[in-house]
This record gives sequence, structure tokens and C-alpha cells, in this order.
Amino acid sequence: MKRYDFIKQLTLGTLCMVTLNTWAKRIGNLPDNELIMPVLFIGHGSPANAIETNDFTQTLVQLGENLPKPSAILCISAHWTTKGTYVNVSPNPKMIYDMYGFPKELYEVNYPAKGAPAIAKEIPKLILTTKVKTDTEWGFDHGTWSILKHLYPKADVPVFQMSIDYNKPMQFHYDLAKQLNSLRKKGVLIIGSGNLTHNLRIVDFPNINAAPRDWALEFDSKIKLHIDKGNHRAIINYEKIGASAKLAVPEPSHFFPLIYALALQDKNDGISYFFEKFHYGTLSMRGVKIG
Ligand code: ZN
Repeated sequence: MKRYDFIKQLTLGTLCMVTLNTWAKRIGNLPDNELIMPVLFIGHGSPANAIETNDFTQTLVQLGENLPKPSAILCISAHWTTKGTYVNVSPNPKMIYDMYGFPKELYEVNYPAKGAPAIAKEIPKLILTTKVKTDTEWGFDHGTWSILKHLYPKADVPVFQMSIDYNKPMQFHYDLAKQLNSLRKKGVLIIGSGNLTHNLRIVDFPNINAAPRDWALEFDSKIKLHIDKGNHRAIINYEKIGASAKLAVPEPSHFFPLIYALALQDKNDGISYFFEKFHYGTLSMRGVKIG
């Protein structure tokens, strides 16, 4: 089939009649450089961003409008940490309101995207360095729905999550994430959702525009420099940065998703930052686009 025929087929809306396997094969036959999806790291910040309009949420809306429409979204959220690695294969993932003390309205947010069970079930075959198990209990936690609400407000792209094995070292996650790379060629948008600096014991709540603390600025800028240089080794070993690292990453849940995103960087991928501000004085909301 010629490429323009394929595109015509898409526009005619006949894709729904094509099985996922056929779809994956057809995408695989197209030139890679036209279809490789970028990878995102998004600093998600407060769950309340889901129902607020601010410079961050407006940036996500614009970003979503300018990205190619994915075949599916794989989100690796800081809020699904487990013992072992799991991938959610639910056809209709449920909403998970894993936050406390926010306005009632936030617990009524719905993000009705479908799951992507066919693609999700491929993940255990892709990952050879550990056994990835399938799961039907999880759904969309706020690390996923609070950003997708703005990025893809129509919820018309299937979404699935993969968990983070919390007790494993950064190198384990870096190596694991690299094995997801072929999904980019299948039109899957992979998002790491965390925060580059995340210390909820020191947060200037409720002042979203509070001046960033010195240690947050220092750690964020050092990591940015390493990202710019492609020095992933230094980022995996972020603890060596010292005092600012201890304050910025008191525990690694929100840092892991950055490692997943960076591991997916190919040598030809450029890096850009679609958001670089801080919220509440200590949360780096830096957003990284790879490719
Ligand atoms: Zn979070």
C-alpha cells in the first residue's frame, strides 16, 4: 500500500476496522523519521492543576495542540510505585483520587479515556531485564489525569500506565525504559510524570508564585545542564550533586519518571523545555520534550 493511500485510509476513519497488529505492522513499514513520537517529561505539581487555569496548564494545552496525535499514551507516573513492575491492561481504567485535603471538585474530575490493553499486553514481551506483570486494579492516578486533562482534553487517545518498582536503583529504571523505545515508532507517546524537585515538607503553599528556594534552583539548573549535554550518567547518579539533591529529591518517586524519559532519547533527538518555572517555591515544573 502506498503511503498516501494509508493516510487517506486514516482520514476516512477506517482505522477502527484495522486490528492493532496490522496497524503496528503498517506503521513499522513507514519511514521512521516521519512517525517517531517525541517523549515528554512533565513536572505535574499540585493535583489541583487539573481544575485550575494557570501558565502551566495553558502551556500543556498548547503543547497538546502541537504534538502529533498519538495512537496511545503510556504514562509512567510518580504516583504508581510498586514492588515489581506492572502494566495496566484494563480496557476502561478507573479514576484514582490519590490525594487528600483538596476541594471536592477535584474528586469529581473524570478523564474518560479508554485503556490500551492490546499495546499494554505487549510490554511484558518488550522488557527483558525484569518480569513485567499485567494489572487490572490500577487506573489513572492524578500524575496522569491532572496533566492529560489539559494535554488531550477530549480524552480521545487510549491511555495506559506502567508502574515504577520503587526499591530498584535508577540504573535499573534507565535500562528498563530503553526497551520501550520501539513504541515511539508505533505512534505511542511516552510520558514521564513527576517533578524534578519535589519536597512536600518544604513547600510555600498556597503561594503558587513564591520565589524558588536556592537549593531548588541549584538542583534544577544542574540537572538541566546534564540533560543539555546528554550526560545521563550524572543524572542517574544525582545523589552525588550533594546537599541540594538531598533537599530536591528526599525520596525518588518524582525523579524516576525523568529517568524513564531520558532513557528514551535517541542520538538524533533534540531537547527542548516547554516549561521552566517553579510552583510553591520548591516544585520545579520543568517540562522536557525529547525529539
Ligand atoms: Zn506528584
